[in-house]
Amino acid sequence: MGGPVSMKTDPFGKGNFIVDRSILEIILSKRNGEEIPAPGLHALLQSYVSGRIPDYQMAAFLMAVYLRGFSFRELAAWTRGMVETGSTLDLSGFQTPKIDKHSTGGVGDKTSLILTPLVASLGITVPMICGRSLGFTGGTIDKLESIPGLRTALSLPEDHRILANIGCVMMAQSPEIAPADRKLYALRDVTGTVESIPLIASSILSKKAAEGIEGVVFDVKFGDGSFLPSLSQASLLAKTLVKLSGLLKLKAIAVLSSMEQPLGNAVGNAVEIEEALEVMKGAGPKDLKDLTLSLGAWMLVLAQKAPSFKGGLAQAREALEKGAALGKFRRMVEAQGGDGSGVEDSSRLPRPVRKLKLLSLQSGFLTKIHTRRLGEFLRATGAGRSRLGDSVDPAAGVVLTKKLGDRVQKREPV
Ligand code: URA
Repeated sequence: MGGPVSMKTDPFGKGNFIVDRSILEIILSKRNGEEIPAPGLHALLQSYVSGRIPDYQMAAFLMAVYLRGFSFRELAAWTRGMVETGSTLDLSGFQTPKIDKHSTGGVGDKTSLILTPLVASLGITVPMICGRSLGFTGGTIDKLESIPGLRTALSLPEDHRILANIGCVMMAQSPEIAPADRKLYALRDVTGTVESIPLIASSILSKKAAEGIEGVVFDVKFGDGSFLPSLSQASLLAKTLVKLSGLLKLKAIAVLSSMEQPLGNAVGNAVEIEEALEVMKGAGPKDLKDLTLSLGAWMLVLAQKAPSFKGGLAQAREALEKGAALGKFRRMVEAQGGDGSGVEDSSRLPRPVRKLKLLSLQSGFLTKIHTRRLGEFLRATGAGRSRLGDSVDPAAGVVLTKKLGDRVQKREPV
């Protein structure tokens, strides 16, 4: 097996950094809608990460990309350049298929917690890098960290060791992985350039490509509780992610899934771990189980472990029913320093000091859930964060007792 990490900190050599006039020329070219050659994009990223280009010039370039877009040639070069600003995990010595899943995020989306150990139990290596909660959407890392002792800040050699022993890991983006992405994301956040399909796609794939995987299933969310509510925008992002993956030599499939209501019933941190554990134990909400099994089926297809989606679904369902995800999840939690007993007994997870019931003011059918507003409410309770760096309350959360279409009686809890 090769070394765990391959270092590519300055692939162009010191002489290839760009400064002064050349950065201005690149900004002007993009502003005028011209295509920028790959070496220019790579040098731009290297120079930015090393602090040789000020934020105001990169901000101008990002706005030009927001307005003018990238050709697919530019997009692939930009994404590769982002990967090359950091280190990558070398999983070439693993005999198993290496497949991951990425979700664009939503309210109550806890599929990764079940899916990762589930497909790992079927012989797929899953080196999942997950995000933290930001704004109205939750983050898998915050949910996982509600398990006492569990560490998600893993070094790449540690990540490699856990993968070799357990077959899956769920870690936070470390400073070595695509550092350009961290710096660019923070700048996009304050310059009105977050909602750009090429910038989103390159940001997502720079992290996935650094994981050393062979394929990825994208769960692209649309609807009120998602990052891109419009179905047409979500579909454009899905197509862009699949095409860009191909250019980066990754196999990919995208699934579009609705966020018109939270996924499952629980929204928060520990409360979502509890619900994910229920699914791993054979119970839990149907919508959460169905989406997890569908994503698992596609991962099995990409890994060539299932001949078709239908075959993958049957394999994933059988493994879930046998409790294979639960056993693997416990081993992963313990390998990451967490208290595995919380997996059997969820009363060991953080609990709220007080619980309130909300009663319906009238009888009828539930026809609308303001999912984004619910996510914003959760953030206000401390379950989420407004800025990266804020701390979160692991015990804060909401459990819905009704889903869209359900009948509700007056004074019944919702
Ligand atoms: N998720 C990411 O990782 N990057 C973006 O730009 C948006 C969502």
